[in-house]
Amino acid sequence: MKQTLELYFITSGELPKESIEHLTQFISKYEQDLNSKRPKGKFTIELSEIKDKKIVLSLNSVDSYAPHTIVLRMRKQLAQEIGKKYKIGLRGFKFIKYEIEKKLKLEPKREFTLPLTSKLEFFKKEDEPWARIEIDPEIEEDFVEKGAIERILRRINDKISKDYHGAKKEHHTVAWYSGEKKLLTSKNPTKLLEKEGWIKRTNYRNQWILTPSITAVIEAIKKIMVEHVYTPLNYQKMMIPKLVDWSIWLRSGHAEGMFQGGFEPYFVVQPKSANPEFFEEIADYITITKTIPEDKLYEKITPPIGGLSYAQCPPFWAWLQGKTIAKESLPILVYDWSGPTYRYESGSAYGFERVDELHRIETLFIGTPKQVKEVATETRKKLREVFDRIFDLEVREAKVMPWWLEQSAKDEEEEDMLVGTIDFETYMPYRGSREESEWLEIQNISIIGDKYPRGFSVKTEGGKDLWSGCGGGSFERFITAFVSQKGLKTDEWPEPFLKYLDNIPEPPKFL
Ligand code: ATP
Ligand code: MG
Ligand code: ZN
Repeated sequence: MKQTLELYFITSGELPKESIEHLTQFISKYEQDLNSKRPKGKFTIELSEIKDKKIVLSLNSVDSYAPHTIVLRMRKQLAQEIGKKYKIGLRGFKFIKYEIEKKLKLEPKREFTLPLTSKLEFFKKEDEPWARIEIDPEIEEDFVEKGAIERILRRINDKISKDYHGAKKEHHTVAWYSGEKKLLTSKNPTKLLEKEGWIKRTNYRNQWILTPSITAVIEAIKKIMVEHVYTPLNYQKMMIPKLVDWSIWLRSGHAEGMFQGGFEPYFVVQPKSANPEFFEEIADYITITKTIPEDKLYEKITPPIGGLSYAQCPPFWAWLQGKTIAKESLPILVYDWSGPTYRYESGSAYGFERVDELHRIETLFIGTPKQVKEVATETRKKLREVFDRIFDLEVREAKVMPWWLEQSAKDEEEEDMLVGTIDFETYMPYRGSREESEWLEIQNISIIGDKYPRGFSVKTEGGKDLWSGCGGGSFERFITAFVSQKGLKTDEWPEPFLKYLDNIPEPPKFL
């Protein structure tokens, strides 16, 4: 790696002429110290000039320190040096030119640009792929301090390797299978539900009205889950917010995956003002034309402040953020079904199994690594019981590693239930044979490691490791899976399921 940085420090006043000699000495001593601490590679600093309240430096590194980290480090000592001697303060720094040449792990398949860089080009040296990066000299000091340059360099390799692996396929291995079950239909479940009048598509993409009939079935599923999963495992019911501001998605890491294949949020905006006068012309326009003046309206709203709940559990963490949890309060086990979550699913013509407004049960558990593994294992067992014995579904469990877990999982060795995800998948007869058709994921259960506690600065007594895990399954998926195997003749439904079902209201008759 080769890095050259030209920059200036800004001083509060004009430094006298003789300061050149003094600071040249200071800097050459600083340079010597650095090189003696790190014999490998080569690092030089030169004082180019002092004028117009600027101390201009040039830093060169070959396989040695990153120049900007040295700038951050020497800042304090330099400030002391000129403060003591000339009673002049140091105001900060500004880059003139920062060029980095870095060897790449893989050869890039395309050109791309990155924020905060003014140039990014690829070239070959001794048959190896390299990148030449120029950092935008206008980069804010604050970003440099907080690691933006390191992340630019990492991002280059990440983007290149993503082009090799494509939209990374989840690694998928079947860990358990219920065996073949009695299938009562091979019809499309969405069509069956629509025909029976249990669900109705709205005007809006992938959104459905859930009538009293299907809601009665959902209530039965809730009862089953409480009796078979939550009560025996001591989960507590709570209500997690469903409007999520950026601060949450920044900490949970979701924001950086936005529309990159795994996080497709609905955005939320605010009015720029809530004054009646501010919206008066809009109201007038709608009254007169009975249409929405979209362009005019757009001028009156803010950029998104965040979005609608996507993964359900991230906003939970604002509760524990910055806290240290007493050992006696662990593990914490909760579940939430207090409202829908929203996903902008790509494409718009899906059935009931892939909706934009979905109703999920989310379970969430926090504890020591041992507790989290135990809870995940127990929850997985209970969920298996529900799907296999009570719903009587033909279902399998698959071990997968979703993108958002890859980073946390890197340090873990192979074991049955470590950081990673178990997906419950059901066979959908209408899609074809067991071997060739795509099965439907109805529920997942994940061990996430310390990703969330770290992201939200949650600690535990004595600084011990704190882990979390979570799982979710939507009523839309449960019912689609069930109806695709058992049909809609309710008297044929499995006995253990019927036990929880009171009465299914008849839909209204339409003339
Ligand atoms: P898929 O790969 O099928 O899109 P996913 O990996 O996006 O699923 P997760 O993010 O793991 O799903 O969410 C967990 C659960 O949420 C799923 O098992 C499923 O029950 C439910 N779910 C996810 N997306 C939808 C959707 N669009 N409509 C209905 N339920 C959904
Ligand atoms: Mg999905
Ligand atoms: Zn979750």
